Amino acid sequence: MTLDIRQIPVLNDNYIYLVREPESGNVAVVDPAVVGPVVDEASKLGWAITHILNTHHHSDHTGGNLEIREKTGCTIVGPGPDKDRIPGIDIQVNDGDIFAFGAAEAKVFFVPGHTRGHIAFWFANSDALFCGDTLFSIGCGRVFEGTMDQMWTSLSRLRDLPSETRIYCAHEYTQSNVQFAVSVDPKNMALRNREAEVKRKRANGESTVPSRLGEELAANPFLRADQPDLQKALSMVGADPVAVFTEVRGRKDAF
Ligand code: ZN
Ligand code: FE
Repeated sequence: MTLDIRQIPVLNDNYIYLVREPESGNVAVVDPAVVGPVVDEASKLGWAITHILNTHHHSDHTGGNLEIREKTGCTIVGPGPDKDRIPGIDIQVNDGDIFAFGAAEAKVFFVPGHTRGHIAFWFANSDALFCGDTLFSIGCGRVFEGTMDQMWTSLSRLRDLPSETRIYCAHEYTQSNVQFAVSVDPKNMALRNREAEVKRKRANGESTVPSRLGEELAANPFLRADQPDLQKALSMVGADPVAVFTEVRGRKDAF
């Protein structure tokens, strides 16, 4: 019952995911920004869409909700804390809930910060985390609606998942994230190695997503606000992790 996961690049840099659970044949679309490429890919694969999973309300994650449901009769699953802003929401899920998806299960994490109602879906048996715009490869989402404290707490919870977890984030931002990360943490060898890998992949037109959580722990400055080596690079040794996170996020916003 390992999930079969397909990545669909849309718009400038969004990723939509099609996720099939083989025992039940259930198929979920994660964060449908648009309709056409999703429906086309599903029909090419012979997959019938049964669910939409939304991580947060932004239109580049929910824009396809109503039309896909109209075409397929699927069920829309989204964050209870943001039920009023998720178009067509049928099932509300909340922090700690286990969402049964055929023979698979997703644990729901409430991860506010980017928006005040953001959630993530963790399919432990498939080592897959769908985290929307909370955690990116070598980056994190902008803190639009929540506080820096909330965002750091949210990222800290995701950081505690198993290191082999694959991070299925919703944007291909890795190359610009890496450029920024090197500017704050230039001596980090894991980051330097990632920089080379990302450059090569993008030059070949390849996706850099998903990465593994373990790679992110070593190289992503937004997960490392409490790490002495990053604090040293920022001349903030011993500072409160929220202050360090705030500094890194602020620099990225201005980068
Ligand atoms: Zn967003
Ligand atoms: Fe987005």
